[in-house]
Amino acid sequence: MFAQVVVDISNDAVDRIFDYIALPDTQVGMRVKVPFANRSVLGYVIGLKDKTTVDNSKLKSIISNLESVPKLKPEILSLCDFLAGHFFLRLSDAIKLVLPSCVRLDSQKEQNFFVLSPIYDIDTAINMIGNRAKSQLSAYAFLCEQGECEFSKLVELFGRSAINALVEKGMVSKIAERRMRAPISSNEKIARNILTKSQQSAIDTISAHDETFLLQGVTGSGKTEVYMNIIEKALSENKTAIMLVPEISLTPQMMNRFNSRFPNLVAVLHSGLSEGERYDEWDRIFTGQAKVVLGARSAIFAPLENLGAIIIDEEHDGSYVSETNPRFFTHDVAEFRARYNKCPLVLGSATPSIDSFNKAKNGTYHLVELPERINGLEMPKIEIVDMLTEVMDGNTSPYSKKLIAKLDQAIKNKKQSILFINRRGFASFMVCRECGYRAKCDDCEVSLVYHKEDNQLKCHFCGKRYRALTNCPNCNSQNIKYGALGTERVCEDLKEMFPGVPIFRMDNDTTRGKNGHKNILEQFSKTTPSILVGTQMIAKGHDYPNVAFVGILDADVSLYNSDYKSNERTFQLVTQVAGRAGRKTNDGYVVLQTYAPKHYVYRFATAYDYRSFYDKEINLRQTTGFPPYSTILRILVSSESDNRAKDVTKKLYDKAIEIKAKYKREIIFLQAMPSPVKRIQTKYRYQILTRYVPNDKITSEFFELSDIIEKDVSIFVEINPNNLR
Ligand code: ADP
Ligand code: ZN
Ligand code: ZN
Repeated sequence: MFAQVVVDISNDAVDRIFDYIALPDTQVGMRVKVPFANRSVLGYVIGLKDKTTVDNSKLKSIISNLESVPKLKPEILSLCDFLAGHFFLRLSDAIKLVLPSCVRLDSQKEQNFFVLSPIYDIDTAINMIGNRAKSQLSAYAFLCEQGECEFSKLVELFGRSAINALVEKGMVSKIAERRMRAPISSNEKIARNILTKSQQSAIDTISAHDETFLLQGVTGSGKTEVYMNIIEKALSENKTAIMLVPEISLTPQMMNRFNSRFPNLVAVLHSGLSEGERYDEWDRIFTGQAKVVLGARSAIFAPLENLGAIIIDEEHDGSYVSETNPRFFTHDVAEFRARYNKCPLVLGSATPSIDSFNKAKNGTYHLVELPERINGLEMPKIEIVDMLTEVMDGNTSPYSKKLIAKLDQAIKNKKQSILFINRRGFASFMVCRECGYRAKCDDCEVSLVYHKEDNQLKCHFCGKRYRALTNCPNCNSQNIKYGALGTERVCEDLKEMFPGVPIFRMDNDTTRGKNGHKNILEQFSKTTPSILVGTQMIAKGHDYPNVAFVGILDADVSLYNSDYKSNERTFQLVTQVAGRAGRKTNDGYVVLQTYAPKHYVYRFATAYDYRSFYDKEINLRQTTGFPPYSTILRILVSSESDNRAKDVTKKLYDKAIEIKAKYKREIIFLQAMPSPVKRIQTKYRYQILTRYVPNDKITSEFFELSDIIEKDVSIFVEINPNNLR
């Protein structure tokens, strides 16, 4: 027998299938050790066959099988094929998606369960490491930022030699293995609700068909209850289910609800797990002990068999597109698995993406609606406050009179409030009023954000930290101006305005560590009155009965983000944030502060009029030629050398022009330019941006064109990127 083997090396030159002589017990889907270029490497058996065309003298044998039960099941193998073809991935990269590294590399056998934490602060560390060891520096900066991190994760991010060097220099301390079973801890019993008519009818429709459904239900309309019933039905037929949620911050509440409904059957998979936990959860799924998987986007690859339902909650959320290599769209993967298993796929949202709603309208998806909040509760009233009028009336603070009054009222009524500001830290930048000097990152072309708590300037792109400015390094002036406010500053202001009222902050800085989100949300939910200040993390899914007031401090940031999705995203954001108010009583109230009070996004969002917003937006997309009426493709070229990046961009652009000549009518736009952020993590960045009438042939031609190997230059292709920085 001969085995067809994919070797675990990310390199285009070896991106093909090699034949080896199989061992007697070799099976399809097994991980094996094979000889390759005088080394022994990890490989995956993706097929077995009787004959080979490889010359006998060149043929080698598999060294050993690494397991007796293949880790890659038949469905997952087909999925890898699909991923490789559909997203232009190497097979070895596709396999990296479906097998987490702890499983792939058996890292549970190594020292990898050690958690490392930094011993020195970053300034001292920079002195000790020196300027040249870039990976060590990045790893240390990351470690300082995170507080602690597992050995194996660091190795994956920064390379084994860098991490070993830090260990050898004694710059990190090892905290012993933290492996423990079952990250779900709560045993809370949550009562089952009697379904409403619309919930029941949604469940009946969905369970009966092997199709893709768009479940549009306003916030608080009981979508989660619908999901749980669909899953219950799948389980009763001895099938399994996957439920995806956008962010880890969402999972604690959802986890409690799921665990209460499906005791011992739920496994969770998300980036917040330790490697040990991930390994254990994966194994529970693999062996069939867990039948329901709840997790973030990569949970779509969970090795469940016989799926009876796949659910993507908050389907519009940007996190369902993986922005890093290997890049994939979760919806497409889910679609593949749903069709493979002949089961329903449910996309749920109060504010579906324009793309999904368009598909519902043209019949690709089946639209199911939950038009009302449970118990007939009204949607909270959203009031727009024009900040320009505020300024004219003499209030130059970032808080309108109305906002303050509503906060005050909520506090007096012993209720909770949520304030949303999409910026963490204290101030978005520091700039010298005398000479205009602006603090920027050495490695990235961006302003540094001031974090008062640690009195540091931080780069939000690479995590590097700098000393805060007391006087200008350029002219020595002490007249330093702070940029737009962030979460830290809001909390500080609130403490002054409302002494004694507990203020909680939820952003990337306060939610580090395993239970970061959970702890903050748990405390907040127990404290009345109180105020929660946060970034978009607070926008999603949380269901707290006592939140009476929600303030949106600055939605314009997202509105003027100047990419084609900024309208859509702002509409979603306002609706989602507002949806946190008045979930159990009719007293919910929302204040939205803006300098563009008449903008149609706000007009429709405050009226909860998704349809009108959709109509307006889809019209705009059609007339301007943006998705879904076109495909946007970006080829990002980056390199430590500005010239190399420029040269390679030029070279690719010359070839791109040839494609354009071939498809004159389809290609609407093609241009090469520096990326909006010209440098990130010491790498210069250029891009070729193109837009064309959706066409698979054109897409694959651009992918082929970019499939070249250039020394010291990396080339990355994205389709309809969420973020064009
Ligand atoms: P969504 O996911 O649409 O935001 P949820 O499923 O979280 O809505 O439901 C909102 C609230 O209503 C939750 O507290 C939930 O327990 C409750 N709920 C859901 N369905 C029912 C029902 N049929 N009867 C009573 N309460 C319900
Ligand atoms: Zn100055
Ligand atoms: Zn930086």
